[in-house]
Amino acid sequence: MKGYERRDAAESKASGSRKDRDLKRRNDLRLIAGLVLLVTALFAARGLYFRGSGARVIVSQNGSTLREYPLNGFADDVITNPENGGQNRLHISGGRVWVTDASCPDKVCEHYGKISQDGEVIVCLPNRLIITVAE
Ligand SMILES: [Zn+2]
Repeated sequence: MKGYERRDAAESKASGSRKDRDLKRRNDLRLIAGLVLLVTALFAARGLYFRGSGARVIVSQNGSTLREYPLNGFADDVITNPENGGQNRLHISGGRVWVTDASCPDKVCEHYGKISQDGEVIVCLPNRLIITVAE
């Protein structure tokens, strides 16, 4: 009788420690998952912060800076070259800038598409317009 009791006690002790180990492993997994989420969130926040903080759109025409816009803002402006009357419609939204419409014959500026990275440019040679993204 005493022997059985002792064995029962030993088994319950063993199963108890196994349960503890499982619990610890589950907690570890939860901790890792939490860390992964945290790191992901930090990276996302950092990306938003940097995009929102310094990035600007610089518009220059005939070799001099005409206007500047924040890249994280919104703009829809027509820029007219006083020398030839050429026009480009500049659009900024969603952290990107592009030319939606242009009077130039080649439409190369429209075909640049949407730019958002530091150093990217859109050039319209006929209208002597340069749009640059700068941090
Ligand atoms: Zn053009």
